[in-house]
Amino acid sequence: MNATLQMIRDFGHEQVAFFNNEKAGLKCIIAIHSTKLGPAVGGCRLYPYACEEDALFDVLRLSRGMSFKNAAAGLPLGGAKGVIIAKPQDKCEALFEAYGEAVESLNGRYFTAEDVNTTTQDMDWVMHKTQQVVGRKTVSGDPSPFTAIGTFDGIRATAKFLFGTDDLHGVRIALQGLGHVGFDLAKQLAAAGADLTVSTHSNRANIDAMLALGAKEVPDSEIYTTECDILSPCALGATLNYNTIPNLKCKAVAGAANNQLLDEKCGEMLKARGILYAPDFIINGGGVINAGQEAFTKYDKENVLKQVHNIFNTVYNILDESKASGIPEGVIAQKFAEDRIKNGLK
Ligand code: NAD
Repeated sequence: MNATLQMIRDFGHEQVAFFNNEKAGLKCIIAIHSTKLGPAVGGCRLYPYACEEDALFDVLRLSRGMSFKNAAAGLPLGGAKGVIIAKPQDKCEALFEAYGEAVESLNGRYFTAEDVNTTTQDMDWVMHKTQQVVGRKTVSGDPSPFTAIGTFDGIRATAKFLFGTDDLHGVRIALQGLGHVGFDLAKQLAAAGADLTVSTHSNRANIDAMLALGAKEVPDSEIYTTECDILSPCALGATLNYNTIPNLKCKAVAGAANNQLLDEKCGEMLKARGILYAPDFIINGGGVINAGQEAFTKYDKENVLKQVHNIFNTVYNILDESKASGIPEGVIAQKFAEDRIKNGLK
């Protein structure tokens, strides 16, 4: 059997739908991994994939990741993802309206949202054809500040596990990527007294702002080998890999980026090196906790923040269980999510 078809079988996807709308220039795939806990929620990524096989591979992994993230966050939601095969410069109203029709045809099983290369403006166009959209700018808005708050709490939990206190004064943190989440997070860490080192590809103004708050800057290539207590990847995925892990000079990794581990073996490598790992889909769940509310209840910011702050306990408990069992943190987090999907939230 073809490898990606085998993946659908292995991951247990409920539905994988391909949509072509030649007139609008839309080619997209929506993968619904699970609706066991509720309607599936996951963003819409637009990317110039080299071929449909690459897009399928991406959407299968991302949609399963959303099932785990939503379940671990305690949300009555399943996991799904949409990918549009297009160049960012080809974005237009007709394209997103056609995508809205695709989402609508799934009869309420899928709520979409902004993601890489899509914005709330694009989602306004999607809403011309469907109301199955969360993270609306008039309701829960930009998820990034909530992702940053949850990641900050996860870093405090990691510090507590390392040092017996969640006071971040003097804790050396190396943060990669001063984008929407990373910059917000870096400002919170600086305010909490952390000893910060930062690197980023773009956003010079954000670097300057952090330097003014006392942070140090290193080139991208040096962030992994910066001597620190906590490395916080907040840029792209797969940064914890066979090249970087042997050279890390940190005691723990806790950051917002999705899919930080290149593969499961990398989780074992971190464990073997005695480096703690706050699993990405647990620590970065703040954004979906915020946006996901729109899919099942009236949006209530106070309630959202209460749930986001619970990331502290979840991260701490996973680190604790990993220490006691010797099982890598990522494996424990996945099992925690899978058990919830199988047996329900409570
Ligand atoms: P963003 O695009 O706003 O920021 C990413 C930043 O990383 C940019 O400033 C970019 O210059 C920088 N960067 C890219 N490659 C780099 C490298 N090699 N070294 C240093 N800097 C580099 O994205 P974002 O919304 O802040 O998201 C950051 C990460 O968090 C992504 O992995 C995203 O999937 C994940 N995430 C985001 C949210 C959210 O609410 N935005 C939620 C969950 C997970």
